[in-house]
Amino acid sequence: MNLTHDGAIYLRLSKDDGRDRKESESILSQRILLRQYAASHGIRIVSEFADDGISGMQWNRPAFQEMLRAAEHGWIHTVLVKDLSRLSRDYIRIGELLEYWFPAHGIRLIAVSDGVDTGEDAITNEFSPVRALMNDWYTRDISRKVRAAISARQEAGFCTLATVPYGYRRDGKSLTPIPQEAEVVKRIFRLYTAGNSFSAIASKLTDDRIPAPRKSEKGWSDATVRRILMNPVYAGSLMLHTTEKIGYKCSKTRRRTPEEAIRFDVPAVITRQEFDNAQRIRHRREHKKQPKHWLSGQVFCGECGCRMTVCGTPDRRLICTGRRNGNGCRNPSMQICTLETGILSELRRCHLPVSPAALPYLVESVRMTEHTAEIHLRCRAPEQTADAACPPAEEPPFITEPEKEKTGFSEKNHVSSCHFQGNML
Ligand SMILES: [Zn+2]
Repeated sequence: MNLTHDGAIYLRLSKDDGRDRKESESILSQRILLRQYAASHGIRIVSEFADDGISGMQWNRPAFQEMLRAAEHGWIHTVLVKDLSRLSRDYIRIGELLEYWFPAHGIRLIAVSDGVDTGEDAITNEFSPVRALMNDWYTRDISRKVRAAISARQEAGFCTLATVPYGYRRDGKSLTPIPQEAEVVKRIFRLYTAGNSFSAIASKLTDDRIPAPRKSEKGWSDATVRRILMNPVYAGSLMLHTTEKIGYKCSKTRRRTPEEAIRFDVPAVITRQEFDNAQRIRHRREHKKQPKHWLSGQVFCGECGCRMTVCGTPDRRLICTGRRNGNGCRNPSMQICTLETGILSELRRCHLPVSPAALPYLVESVRMTEHTAEIHLRCRAPEQTADAACPPAEEPPFITEPEKEKTGFSEKNHVSSCHFQGNML
């Protein structure tokens, strides 16, 4: 047998393949089918890529992306899948892949069960767009059915939350308080109304070795304390369906109005008066006028692109607004002083000796993730204007003479408008 075509097999299985998914769909079955096909058609399998438990609507699947990179580098020339829906269930993406990306990179695609082989002039290839559309429709249909089933359960009085709020356990349809945890909740409300901040309460609970709601967390965080203080479930009102996805392909969510949300009565841990009192205090504290921080409005989330907002007193933090609104972003909050120190040391590492007072005049914006910060500067260097990468500035110099004097800003650290990344946090 002449084994000339280096190929890869791609396997994928997820929940969107339906509850009635058969054994024939399993990763093992897909592997056996594809290897047998390759052996009988003279294709040498050099790599295998598998995404188990990831939806076909998701494009950033680790193994799938790795396979595309391997194809891009020319390490593989043939891709074998069981059917087109393994590659993607999004008909727009799959169309782009089949019509542009694979041909541009000289990749032959074989979808064994669909009879698709782009290396041959088969009539079945022409039905690929129709198949892709059907695969997409299947996901839309499943998504609609799942949403209808959840709504029906909610209307019938079932608590459909995937995670039960701290202090409660699931009890049939509804929730029942857990006595020890309910005491912790009462204590949090008591401490807060007595004037303690979120972080002070979190430190007290951690010091007293009270297990945090999430077992994975070492101690209590101010965000967890804030979340508990804001949750009306402790006053007996469980709110369901407070957010919804914008579309079945889009991970963005929108917040539903209180009238649209579904409300249940559950056993209360604190009185309504105690809850309302805590909300009044929180509102007063969080909206207290405080001087605007220079980084306010300048920092963007490196994970989801939303603006990071400054909040909390006295230790002010940057929090992703997307994460706060429940868009699924996992970028953690960060103390603003940590970021400031990081920016300074990063600029110094890049031989830009600036004083802390000059930072507001120098930094245009920052994109940050948990471990990196991409700093965009706004000044231009007169000595570098000949550089094609940094065209001459058309606007007047950004820093005025009095500002230069005030901040100790000199022509020496008058840098080009560019950005660099630092692994500094
Ligand atoms: Zn974010």
